Amino acid sequence: MAYSYVVPSDSDLKLNSLDTNDNAGLGKEEGLRKLEDLAAEIGELQELLFASRQTAVLCIFQAMDAGGKDGAINRVISYVNVQSCRVAYFKAPTEEELAHDFLWRVHRQTPPKGGMTLFNRSHYEDVVAVRVRGLAPEGVWKDRYDLINDFERLLAKCETILLKFFLHVSKEEQEKRLLAREKDPRKAWKLNVEDWKERERWDEYQEAYEEAIRRCSTEYAPWRVVAADRKWFRDLAVAEALAETLRPFRAGWEESLRALGDRAAQELQEYRASR
Ligand code: ATP
Ligand code: MG
Repeated sequence: MAYSYVVPSDSDLKLNSLDTNDNAGLGKEEGLRKLEDLAAEIGELQELLFASRQTAVLCIFQAMDAGGKDGAINRVISYVNVQSCRVAYFKAPTEEELAHDFLWRVHRQTPPKGGMTLFNRSHYEDVVAVRVRGLAPEGVWKDRYDLINDFERLLAKCETILLKFFLHVSKEEQEKRLLAREKDPRKAWKLNVEDWKERERWDEYQEAYEEAIRRCSTEYAPWRVVAADRKWFRDLAVAEALAETLRPFRAGWEESLRALGDRAAQELQEYRASR
């Protein structure tokens, strides 16, 4: 069963109709056991992905502040070989980045074949943060939905598997986490007055996310809404989606590795014969 909600294309998604506290009827221990199995499977799949170098994997993580992007990304990294997995962060654009088209800084961070890249924020900031904060005129950000779809179609056509996660937390859970940061000296460095200011525009953010997810959930790059109030369930849902998406590629990757192995063995034989 799917632990996250895969948003169909042309959907009329309403974020507030999706439960942020869902656990799919699982207890935490049971969920963590399932997560362990999925983590092992993802590790194996990523090794095949890396060795066969036919496909790239791009996972995009978006959420409200304190929604758990960092935590979710850290978990995924713990399942895989970090040498072929990397994280790209997208903060407010620099002057140089602003002088280019909005996808310039994003495109250069996309994974090569064999690689897996996790985006902590992404080009979706350009239709969410930019919209809510009024950083560009409406005509500019509205055009970006189609541009994003074209960009993601290009990536998909060029062997990139795309997964897009919206970590869906409730406003109450966000407040709890922001307040917890204040009390925990190990987390206080994350305190940011901006988070409280942005929180005042919660509804506008939800609306902007809703539209971005609706407009940009496609067959080749679907959005998934992940119930993220419970961290263990969030991690389970992400792991499940990743394993399920990569699993169908396993046979093809193994096949190409066999072919590579055969070729290497033959070259070795020819070399020995020639001596
Ligand atoms: P943390 O969990 O550490 O707070 P963060 O991703 O929230 O991580 P911050 O430095 O707090 O990092 O925030 C980055 C800010 O950059 C966010 O407010 C985000 O909306 C903003 N940002 C990212 N991309 C863009 C963009 N293209 N245009 C405008 N703002 C952007
Ligand atoms: Mg922040």
